[in-house]
Amino acid sequence: MKPLFVVISAPSGAGKTTLCDLLLQTYPEFCYSVSCTTRYPRFGEEDGIDYHFLPNETFERFIKEEKFLEYALVHDNYYGTLKQPIYDVLNERQSMLLDIDVKGAAQVRKHIAGLPQSDPLRSGFVDIFISPPSMEELRRRLETRGTDAPEVIEKRLLNAQEEMSHSGEYMYQVVNDQLEIALRQLCDIINVKGQII
Ligand code: 5GP
Repeated sequence: MKPLFVVISAPSGAGKTTLCDLLLQTYPEFCYSVSCTTRYPRFGEEDGIDYHFLPNETFERFIKEEKFLEYALVHDNYYGTLKQPIYDVLNERQSMLLDIDVKGAAQVRKHIAGLPQSDPLRSGFVDIFISPPSMEELRRRLETRGTDAPEVIEKRLLNAQEEMSHSGEYMYQVVNDQLEIALRQLCDIINVKGQII
């Protein structure tokens, strides 16, 4: 399979984490890009696995040292993707999966547009936006998840509206109504882009 650099964005609660986990199980040649963040770990999250949880000062030093491919302030916290691990994975002819917000995805698109066609980041690039079937369903999922306080849920819902207005900037859009169908669509995209069918 051709090494792919896959960027996935979705509003919180759209089912992106579950879909990304299923994709990683389906394609063992895919690595998940562990982002850096300044937010606190949620229950069950582990440093170095879910995120690299960093203090603000360290994150800001990494910005100055240009270590990030992209970074953004999301829900009042910094989130960023380190450049080096992505090149390491692609140079090993494996594929990389990034789960980042719409601002981060826009920075990645801008960055790769300035790279030569032969750069593995550019030649393997695919971006996909995952939407919930409706705002009502998104609210229901966020409330059922039970990980966020009511005011955080309201903020995430407002952000979701904003994020969904950028879905047209992505090469592909997938609506996560039924998980198996959404997963099938994601696999179809990856199979076509990786030319393994
Ligand atoms: P959460 O706090 O729910 O884990 O993530 C909140 C948002 O931050 C999600 O939309 C997620 O896609 C985004 N995010 C996670 N990692 C990164 C990253 O490295 N860069 C950017 N720009 N956004 C990220």
